[in-house]
Amino acid sequence: MKIFNLGSINADYFYRLPHLPQAGETLASIGYDRGLGGKGANQSVACARAGAEIRHLGAIGSEGRWMVERMEDAGVDCTQVVIVREASGHAIIYVDQAAENTIVIHPGANRAIPDTVLDDALDQAEEGDLLILQNETCLQVEAAQLAAERGVFVIYSAAPFDEAAVRAVLPYVSLLIVNEGEAKALCESFGVALPEMPVKQIVVTKGAQGATWHNLETGGLIVMPAFPVKPVDTTGAGDTFAGYLAAGLAEGASRERAMRLAAAAAALKVTRAGTADAIPARQEVEDFLE
Ligand code: ADP
Repeated sequence: MKIFNLGSINADYFYRLPHLPQAGETLASIGYDRGLGGKGANQSVACARAGAEIRHLGAIGSEGRWMVERMEDAGVDCTQVVIVREASGHAIIYVDQAAENTIVIHPGANRAIPDTVLDDALDQAEEGDLLILQNETCLQVEAAQLAAERGVFVIYSAAPFDEAAVRAVLPYVSLLIVNEGEAKALCESFGVALPEMPVKQIVVTKGAQGATWHNLETGGLIVMPAFPVKPVDTTGAGDTFAGYLAAGLAEGASRERAMRLAAAAAALKVTRAGTADAIPARQEVEDFLE
């Protein structure tokens, strides 16, 4: 089965600073780094590293070609990533000496994906294929609806949490993935407990507490404890988990096996600094599981 991912692609610009800047202050950075990020790109890289056939649907500005090259190097099919007039999505990340940070995100091209991308890509989708969505792009509802009509399994990572987006997308969703904070926000805004949410399947990730798969149709529950590791950098753990989970399901693994793969991949990610570049390859995950 193929995986399609309508997802954000962000450049992460990191500036190390002596302290976080005050209003009106001009400050020279003492270190700089640039990396590929965005929930969508991270999840696509995770799918590719897991060995899945993954096609990314998205948009960048003309200065963002290096990000597509990185995704392609990881094995992501980027033929449906188009160049638009807007600047590429990017995040400006200030980090001080105590590792405190402030982040400004400019969604840019991620919110300007032309709808022709959906039609072109999802035309090739077959029943049983998977579509991944998050809340960092435009066109989620259109994509989810088109996919659901074709019998595609729609995985929705409802992050960052946005009530209006969730309400619009949820009717087409096969599997909702949320972290604990998002699960809480979801239950509060719908005014129901998790088992009463209007969706069939929910996976809740809980950081070092692991993850649970709630089958709301049968009341079934899969509990996947986190693998004990020494955390170095937890950014991208959720995206690694979601990408590996999708890849496991796409290759026909059981839900238990897909959850185990996802938990192992995310645990390995947590032991490494970085986001997309730090997502482990399938063989590393299999070796870790032995
Ligand atoms: P998000 O990054 O979206 O907030 P979580 O923090 O819930 O997501 O992490 C996703 C998954 O990554 C968890 O369910 C778990 O399997 C794994 N994970 C996260 N933090 C750790 C940790 N400290 N040790 C081991 N595994 C972890």
